[in-house]
Amino acid sequence: MDLPHNILLYVLLLVAVAAGYLLGRRERKSGRSQDAVIKDYYQGLNFLLGDRPELGVDRFIEAMEVSDQTVDVHLAMAGVVRRRGEVEKAIRIHQNLMASPVLNAANKQLVEMELARDYHSAGLWDRAEKLLTQIVSRKGSQIAPALELLLDLYEQEREWRQAIDVASRLMKTDNQIRVRLSHFHCELAEEALAAESFKAAQQHAASAVEYAPTQPRGHWLAAQIEAYHKRFKRVLRHIQKAVELNPELVAEYLAVYRNACENLGDDEAYERFLRHALTLYPDPRVLDELIDFRRKNGNEIAVQELLEEISRAPSFGHLPVLLELDERESHDAVKEQILDIVNQETAYHCTNCGFHSKHVMWHCPTCKAWGSFGAAGRLKSAPSA
Ligand SMILES: [Zn+2]
Repeated sequence: MDLPHNILLYVLLLVAVAAGYLLGRRERKSGRSQDAVIKDYYQGLNFLLGDRPELGVDRFIEAMEVSDQTVDVHLAMAGVVRRRGEVEKAIRIHQNLMASPVLNAANKQLVEMELARDYHSAGLWDRAEKLLTQIVSRKGSQIAPALELLLDLYEQEREWRQAIDVASRLMKTDNQIRVRLSHFHCELAEEALAAESFKAAQQHAASAVEYAPTQPRGHWLAAQIEAYHKRFKRVLRHIQKAVELNPELVAEYLAVYRNACENLGDDEAYERFLRHALTLYPDPRVLDELIDFRRKNGNEIAVQELLEEISRAPSFGHLPVLLELDERESHDAVKEQILDIVNQETAYHCTNCGFHSKHVMWHCPTCKAWGSFGAAGRLKSAPSA
């Protein structure tokens, strides 16, 4: 990601100060004249402060010999170059550093890690993967960052099995990784489900629940798998659990729940589910479904009263009233009102970054968070009666 220009300049200046210090120290040792060093330094600084900061970076890098003392400054410069989007140049700097015979093993690993970041930024995923695999196979301080980048890479490539291997290694130090691990298993469960490998799907769904018991997705997948096996009571249990864990996603599960109730010949169970779901979260689609359901069962809702209420202030604060109405009248107009509100207010959004979507996404395309979607809009819980 590009840094704002002023922050970039600030970073460059800090680096320039460090570079000046190191240049002076080294050149005094090597006997090069102080004048030459100062000339290099000010020329670099002039470029940085002028309209050609890229030349400033080049000047510093050229002026400064590679050593274990100066490697940090080289890395900082190259990091700035990469963040500015000049990945190829960053790669060249890091490759030159790698080729230097004077760096100790620890610094070589630092450079290697940065080079892997360059390859990743440049989309050279094969090269990044190869380098990162080397880093994690050895001892050293860069194992954890290398594993993290490797995990991002496998996630981007949708290589779920490899992502699971890497995440399992990271789990010892980072408990947060469990949610990602859980979703990787969900992805594999979905693939298995699509291939009708129900046993594998079931195992992955179970692992997903085990790794992150507060995430609903594993239960939702388990419900779909049970539906294939026609074990409908289990379908109901898994969906109930998923709704408990995140009621804002309930509308996604309606069709499968309804189907299970129909197969069990238990219509009342469906109505109970809808009413309970509405007490947890007033989703207009659930409300719409409840009205439909009652209508099919000859249980019409008093429309005029409801319509007047909703027309005055279309909001879901009217939900408790709506639920109490059961006089026989047509409710087409109400339905229209409700659908209007549905279209206005119902969508999902990422609770992490705010990204909006009409559909639930388990992996946010913007911030890459897993399981971060909830209901968007102004929907709030119905006021208590
Ligand atoms: Zn997001």
